[in-house]
Amino acid sequence: MLSLSNVHKRFRGVHATNGISFEVRSGEIVGLLGPNGAGKTTTLRCVCGILRHDEGSIHIDGLDVVTQEVEAKRLMAYIPEIPNPYEVLTVREHIKFVAMCYGTVDTFNARIDELLSRFELKEKEHELVATLSKGMKQKLAIACAFVHDARVFLCDEPMIGLDPQGQHELQSELLRLRSEGCAILVSTHLLDTAEKLCDRVVIMQKGRKLSEGTLKELQAHARMDNSSLMDVFLHLTREAEA
Ligand code: ATP
Repeated sequence: MLSLSNVHKRFRGVHATNGISFEVRSGEIVGLLGPNGAGKTTTLRCVCGILRHDEGSIHIDGLDVVTQEVEAKRLMAYIPEIPNPYEVLTVREHIKFVAMCYGTVDTFNARIDELLSRFELKEKEHELVATLSKGMKQKLAIACAFVHDARVFLCDEPMIGLDPQGQHELQSELLRLRSEGCAILVSTHLLDTAEKLCDRVVIMQKGRKLSEGTLKELQAHARMDNSSLMDVFLHLTREAEA
């Protein structure tokens, strides 16, 4: 459903994404892990089109994200690490605006009340986005990801800033999407959550892919049977650093 092949992205002197290749299949949640500055956000931004990669290719359901950009974007939803919503709109207007961009106002009408309740935005629906707390802006960004029928979800640190209720709701939502055959890529530093939620993980370090697989496969790679994802992650990244 989502495939990256030898993706490179450079910022002047920094090779932020250095030859990254992996896939996320339909019905799968893949965790994108790595220390600060590893290149996770850059990778996600290249997939969703905020950044243009310098080399390599990225496909969503066979569509090239550069040459078939609009068709590919219809299939994906992006939840950014730091939401940057339009502050002069109300919450309801904002979600409607996003639905209009995707040409799914009918879906908006059918889903808006349920989305507002599920992400605890109902009380704020007529408030300006500028007045929302950080966590509420994150919930708004998540609600906006559900206004069109995306098949590929790209989530950059989606739990940060969410209260426990919001985290629970989002995790349930991701599991539901997986059961419906969506492909989900989640960047996170919460390794306990990743261990429970993800079918596989990709570990990045300094722009490169360090390891990839199920927890069992990573344990075998690290020769650390029965260890937690946290312990395996720390071992592999420290070993690579040394
Ligand atoms: P974190 O876990 O801290 O969010 P990350 O794995 O998401 O980190 P990126 O944000 O992708 O890492 O950054 C990878 C590298 O690219 C870092 O060295 C960063 O400083 C650099 N970088 C990212 N965006 C830019 C930019 N717009 N201009 C210059 N350098 C950038």
